[in-house]
Amino acid sequence: MIYENEKKNRAPTASPHQQFVSKLADQLNAEIVLGTVQNAKEACNWIGYTYLYIRMLRNPLLYGLSPEVLKEDITLGQRRADLIHSAATILDRNNLIKYDRKSGYFQVSDLGRIELCWLFSLSEEFKYVTVRQDEKMELAKLLDHVPIPIQGSLEEPSAKINVLLQAYISQQKLEGLSLVSDMVFITQSAGRLMRALFEIVLKRGWAQLAEKALNLSKMVTKRMWNVQTPLRQFNGIPNEILMKLEKKDFAWERYYDLSAAELGELIRYSKMGPWILEPFWVTVEDNDGEYIIHNEYFMLKKQYIDEDHTLNFTLPIYEPLPAQYFIRVASDKWLGSQTVLPVPFRHLILPENYPPPTELLNLQPLLVTALLNPAYENLYKDFKHFNTVQTQVFTVLYNSDDNVLVAAPTGSGKAICAEFAILRNRQKSSDSVMRAVYIAPITALAKERFRDWEEKFGRHLGMQRKYVQQVSLFIVDELHLIGPVLEVTVSQMRYIASQVENKMRLVALSTSLANAKDLGEWIGATSHGLFDFPPGVRPVPLEIHIQGVDISNFDARMQAMTKPTCTAIVQHAKNGKPVLVFVPSRKYVRLTAVDLMTYSRMDGDQNSAFLLRSHENFEEYLSGISEEMLRATLRHGVGYLHEGLNSSDQDAVSELFKGGFIQVCVMSSSFCWGVPLTAHLVVVMRTHYYDGQENAHTDYPIADLLRMIGHANRPLLDNSGKCVILCHAPRKEYYKKFLYEAFPVESHLHHFLHDNFNAEVVAGVIENKQDAVDYLTWTFMYRRLTQNPNYYNLQGVNQRHLSDHLSELVENTLSDLEASKCIIIENDMDLSPSNHGMITSYYFISYTTIEWFGSSLTPKTKMKSLQEILASASEYVQLPIRPGEEEVVWRLINHQRFSFENPRCTDPHVKVNAHLQAHFSRQSVGGNLALDQREVLLSASRLLQAMADVISSNGWLSLALLAMEASQMVTQGMWECDSMLLQLPHFTKDVAKKC
Ligand code: ADP
Ligand code: MN
Repeated sequence: MIYENEKKNRAPTASPHQQFVSKLADQLNAEIVLGTVQNAKEACNWIGYTYLYIRMLRNPLLYGLSPEVLKEDITLGQRRADLIHSAATILDRNNLIKYDRKSGYFQVSDLGRIELCWLFSLSEEFKYVTVRQDEKMELAKLLDHVPIPIQGSLEEPSAKINVLLQAYISQQKLEGLSLVSDMVFITQSAGRLMRALFEIVLKRGWAQLAEKALNLSKMVTKRMWNVQTPLRQFNGIPNEILMKLEKKDFAWERYYDLSAAELGELIRYSKMGPWILEPFWVTVEDNDGEYIIHNEYFMLKKQYIDEDHTLNFTLPIYEPLPAQYFIRVASDKWLGSQTVLPVPFRHLILPENYPPPTELLNLQPLLVTALLNPAYENLYKDFKHFNTVQTQVFTVLYNSDDNVLVAAPTGSGKAICAEFAILRNRQKSSDSVMRAVYIAPITALAKERFRDWEEKFGRHLGMQRKYVQQVSLFIVDELHLIGPVLEVTVSQMRYIASQVENKMRLVALSTSLANAKDLGEWIGATSHGLFDFPPGVRPVPLEIHIQGVDISNFDARMQAMTKPTCTAIVQHAKNGKPVLVFVPSRKYVRLTAVDLMTYSRMDGDQNSAFLLRSHENFEEYLSGISEEMLRATLRHGVGYLHEGLNSSDQDAVSELFKGGFIQVCVMSSSFCWGVPLTAHLVVVMRTHYYDGQENAHTDYPIADLLRMIGHANRPLLDNSGKCVILCHAPRKEYYKKFLYEAFPVESHLHHFLHDNFNAEVVAGVIENKQDAVDYLTWTFMYRRLTQNPNYYNLQGVNQRHLSDHLSELVENTLSDLEASKCIIIENDMDLSPSNHGMITSYYFISYTTIEWFGSSLTPKTKMKSLQEILASASEYVQLPIRPGEEEVVWRLINHQRFSFENPRCTDPHVKVNAHLQAHFSRQSVGGNLALDQREVLLSASRLLQAMADVISSNGWLSLALLAMEASQMVTQGMWECDSMLLQLPHFTKDVAKKC
């Protein structure tokens, strides 16, 4: 029953007209809920298609219309509008919708009150179902047994469907033949329709109704009611037991309290089918449980069932702060399997508001002659003048020695800003020794910059790289990517600079920042040296289109994105302008390239649309490429880059793209750093990737996305760049927010303090606990603690909170280090490094690894356990296990010299061990595994050396020899028992055997 009052008044004496209007209200409500009708005008149109309308035309008198009306208004337009108005008013009075009488717009409210079974019965699928005379008796009987009351008379087909649906869920037997045949409709479509209903409601964000719809959908699938015991979902439990349980009215949650014996009694009967994946819906609901703020589909894999899972998502919160949000996790399949977790905001301290950005002044672009040095000017002869950002920062960088932070969007030409400082530095020092250091948080980036500057300063200005002890300029690029290493390095420099006379200049570059002030002050930028330009000031304006694709399934969504990608190319990259396409991984790089190639041939003509030009030797050039598929796609003007491609293939693709032979280059997302290709259009196909460490799909970091779209930047060629981002529809708002706004930066140092403290104790920088606290005050973290306290687990922002927090951090960290025997604490104050601490710092390994080595190695350790100990080092926790890789690992471990006991193929340490053994046996592995193996071996040498040091300090000679032997095995790729000849070049096992 949806609105009691109206119904009571209606009863027997109600005229057909009244009944009509009331029924109309019901149906209108359904249409509004389903979203087909949004305002009165659409509703009038919709009425025109109803059966009621036809009846009204046939028999106007019955509906209080005189036949004359029909003559004047043949489609009954006015009449329809009146009817809708009355129906909408009824709904509004019953709080089912908000009806704005002026605009005619409907807004749905209080959705919990919609009756889903009834809504279901109105589906299009059932429009040919009728109620026959001979069924009425049986229907009436069924009607008495259905748990959800049915409105309207049994004459109505919708009532019949409703009864049948409920009878279906109740697993009732039917007698009449015709009813049985109609039941087929239900059997065939109920599950699907309920599912569709749930998805519609979920998409609209209606929390209560979504919960109901999911439950109903599960009830239909399981053919049971949710008031019945969830144990009914398992086969084989005798009905008497189930009935007994249901009579007891025993809350499902209380089954957790049952003793093992009691539970055993129940479980004994349950036979679950084999299952490997369990799907769940994770939704976040607002304070009133009314609106769904976020939803995602989560797959729990059987092999990870015992592990903790981390889901990451970003939610908007609004002022005034609500009391709480609710996180609901509900099984997609099982009734009775859901839980709700409140997330209270009572103690939430929001970060401080950000200061406004730097205004970009309307300055006359500076001519390159402003450098007042012909040799320098020559470096920039291509442009004639500097861009607006460069112009504004020029003076402070070129004519002063201030520390400077330049934050501006990707593509603003910040590298040249740094060059101003380099040129000044060079001019000041009499010798030509370059005393500048450049650091970037990503290796590929540093390499790219190095190539560029080597050419620029080395060849053209004759500057040399020399080992210099005294650095007078320090350049930090992409400071917003700040990780623990970068933070420690900069903090150290600031700490050192505060103590020595010699001034060292710090220049930092970054994308547009939300909290530039904290970062700027941390690096010691002066007030004229702090620039934070907003994201919109790009020298080449960027047009961003964000398109949502509304398919939940990962692979299907990817495919659905190929079409819009093609459309984007046709629309935004006319006349063969270059296009870069970013996809999540190597697998998709190839799939997408092939799809695009196929598409380019679709127009029928032989010439591929994406092949811009080719020369006579094109085929010959292609024959130098080793990956066959790449040769094929290149022929059609589509190139691609992924991690597995060898470097000469990569170079060839870059050459062809830069040279304007091919229009399109597809690359995996990680290539956004350090591949210096630019394009007119950038397409980001899908915005998340599979994170092998978390075993889950994770969004690209915003910094990566900013970098990707930054590739749409060709200053001397384009007036604007274009970028199309294809993402999962629910993420659209999120990306809108973060791509158009400045980037907030927090510190991550607190997760890495142990190894840093250990290194500083070894280096003698931290000699006691007070030093440790002082050291922290030079970090970026220290500046953020009071700005965003909750992020750092601080409960308040006054001085007391801060000092308590710092001393707790220092105490805990140091006592952990003491426990793992890395440092020695004396008098509860003074710190000195132990042997373990020095090994840790020297080999740059984790303090937990040293502790592990120290505790697990014994004088009796043999090669097999030595390998196991090595493979269990914490350094290897990060090794990814990609989807489907368990089987490969399984195969790998099957044929090794040392067997595995109960191996879990999802355990990275098992994978490491398998890799080591495969390497010793010279088994080759391909694809991603080859990359992993390289990583494994790289760390292995370092770890084995550390291990040998630990052993030597215990004086265990034979074990030390064993560790060295293992180290040689890693280098040579052979077992200690293999023929020594294998160490020589060109010797294979076969050749060695013959000797
Ligand atoms: P950012 O580091 O801000 O992302 P880059 O320093 O990498 O930007 O520069 C982006 C591109 O702009 C480079 O290709 C660079 O050569 C070009 N560029 C820089 N300054 C100018 C200028 N004044 N005129 C034309 N192009 C420029
Ligand atoms: Mn840059």
